[in-house]
Amino acid sequence: MKKFSSPLTISVHAGSKGDPQYGGVSSPIYPSSAIDYDTEVKYPRYFNTPNQQSVAEKVAALEFAEAGLVFSSGMAGIMTSILAVVKSGDHIVFQNDLYGGTYHAAIHELGRYGITYTMVDAADPANFAKAVASNTKLIYIETPSNPLLRITDIAAVATIARDRGLLTMIDNTFASPVNQHPFRLGIDIVAHSGTKYIGGHSDMCSGVVVSNAVLTEKIRQSALHFGGSIDAHAAWLMERSLKTIVLRVRQQNSNAEILADFLSNEPRVSKVFYPGLKDHPDHAVAKKQMTGGFGGMLSFEVKSDTSQFISKLKVISKAVSLGGVESTVSEPKRTSHASLSVAERHAAGISDHLIRFSVGIEDPQDLIDDIKEAL
Ligand code: PLP
Repeated sequence: MKKFSSPLTISVHAGSKGDPQYGGVSSPIYPSSAIDYDTEVKYPRYFNTPNQQSVAEKVAALEFAEAGLVFSSGMAGIMTSILAVVKSGDHIVFQNDLYGGTYHAAIHELGRYGITYTMVDAADPANFAKAVASNTKLIYIETPSNPLLRITDIAAVATIARDRGLLTMIDNTFASPVNQHPFRLGIDIVAHSGTKYIGGHSDMCSGVVVSNAVLTEKIRQSALHFGGSIDAHAAWLMERSLKTIVLRVRQQNSNAEILADFLSNEPRVSKVFYPGLKDHPDHAVAKKQMTGGFGGMLSFEVKSDTSQFISKLKVISKAVSLGGVESTVSEPKRTSHASLSVAERHAAGISDHLIRFSVGIEDPQDLIDDIKEAL
């Protein structure tokens, strides 16, 4: 495959094969569940069909990684990858502010496989080093975090792990493959919920994992046992969506910066959490590692009742998911953090007035007007 250096060109051309039969510019959908009997058998659950491979190659190229795998959901990719690299008796160090699905998977599933873990505050990378035990195999991080947009220092964690011979894994969903390239910073396994920025249109569920060639093959061997593969139609939709990911995410980055500035100066808003703001506690680290931009996710606290505020929005919709072209908001107290008690939520810094905002690609002035009107 020809190598491109610009994300704009990579997003359009990497992995996309076009139509060799008729000379079409767009890749065909190959729905066949059995391909190539004689040389290398291709089968959807072997993670090697043409549509799956196009997407895997494109995301690997965007992430500057060697290879990748496409899954039927972000969680399929995350859990398959974890279980591919750890075994009974091993220990994992997680950062403590994880996406709720990953947190629940850790607390409900890992113990049943004899895998132990410690969750640490990621604000200081030294906390990861302190939690490493003699049986630790993996350090797992997620940055920016949900919903407070805290930033974990990726290179510092990667160095701590490499010095101790440990593997590292990151959930790079919030940043997207456009804004942050953890594989370049020394992380071994990079996971995405493809349901978010990769799909980008709030209309499909998928996951992607990229790594070096050896680890990708190791994960593929477990993946074909766990079976979380994606079908050709959904993979093709991902390929199509990925061709515009750089344009979409750059517009989302720019809109989020404008909205964060507006919200910071709005008297009916008490707090804004956005890594691009100079007064964000982790701004310096974000600036160092989010080389493509600070992302389209932000959170803010309103002084009024959140449900009333949300119900008055006309352009921005209520939704639990994120990363689509349309702007959406959610209330963490009712969605991602609903299972915590009020005291636990407050201890985690999640106020009852917090709104999580996935900024879309609309004209930012329309989003500002919508928020002003609802406030
Ligand atoms: N990681 C993050 C940060 C997420 O927000 C989500 C879903 O909301 C996931 C992982 C899981 O992805 P999926 O729902 O595609 O399984």
